[in-house]
Amino acid sequence: MPTPVVVVHGGVRVSAPRAEDPEADEEAVDRLRWIAQSAYRAMEAGGSALDAVELAVRLMEDDPRFNAGYGSALNLLGEVEVDASIMDGHRMRAGAVGGVKGVRHAVSLARAVMERTPHILLVGEGAREFARKLGLGGDDDLIHEKRAEYRRRVLEALRSGGGPKRLRSLLDLMPMYGVADTVGAVAVDSEGRLAAATSTGGLTLKLPGRVGDSAIIGAGTYASRTAACSGTGIGEAAMLVLGAYRVVKWIGDGKSPQEAAEEVLVEIHRTTGYAFGFISVRADGEIGVAQTGYGLFWAAGGDGWVEGGVKKERPKGLLT
Ligand code: ASP
Repeated sequence: MPTPVVVVHGGVRVSAPRAEDPEADEEAVDRLRWIAQSAYRAMEAGGSALDAVELAVRLMEDDPRFNAGYGSALNLLGEVEVDASIMDGHRMRAGAVGGVKGVRHAVSLARAVMERTPHILLVGEGAREFARKLGLGGDDDLIHEKRAEYRRRVLEALRSGGGPKRLRSLLDLMPMYGVADTVGAVAVDSEGRLAAATSTGGLTLKLPGRVGDSAIIGAGTYASRTAACSGTGIGEAAMLVLGAYRVVKWIGDGKSPQEAAEEVLVEIHRTTGYAFGFISVRADGEIGVAQTGYGLFWAAGGDGWVEGGVKKERPKGLLT
């Protein structure tokens, strides 16, 4: 019998914050616990794993602490361009959007791509127009003042020739402008159906038009009848090794969700040097939470229990 569970993440820190704010971190984790529980209850009320991951991601897209939906990181031009994807492991279907402007709930747009088109990925203006047609936004203002202020400070430092030291100190402060990062969720329901979803504003000051792993099925999001996985970190790294697909595949090959996530992270680190994080769940309800950065915000909820935290421990065997 599957044990229904929802696991969510609010992103991994890929660089060490100079100024720690444990209170803000704890508040973000509390919020994640509440979101995991709410999504679990949606399954108890009859929703599927797919409904649960969509709901969890929507709730995080509404919270400016996280880099997704309202409060997304800004690109070099100060615009929000979001990426998202969702996968139904039971039916082997997926949908995704990349580099789309003005859409608060990109995860729902990704689900609409999956359910209402013959395609998997829509990008840019086409995705935005699709959102407008379905009444899923397209013109929402997603810019949060803190993100805009951060971008202004970084550009100022670059222009004033403040030097790499000054820029470095601003990059260290980045988490203070959003607390956490990209969001994702994985779930298994009482029928053993698995689903995964991920949503993000992408990397701060990315080039306009850049699309990352959160829009790419197999890189940032994957689900099968065996397991589901969502990732966070420098997207280019997960795209190179198809990180989320690998985690699911290795769980299918017999590794535990924790082992599979850790081993793919070690491989990502070895091949690219980048920090990354994964959450995963197997059809029987066992979960994995692993990271190679400076903290992965996560929470999980099931029948009568909820847990969560900022995972700082790294896998053994990581060469640093
Ligand atoms: N993976 C996301 C991206 O590269 C960013 C993140 O997870 O923080 O767009």
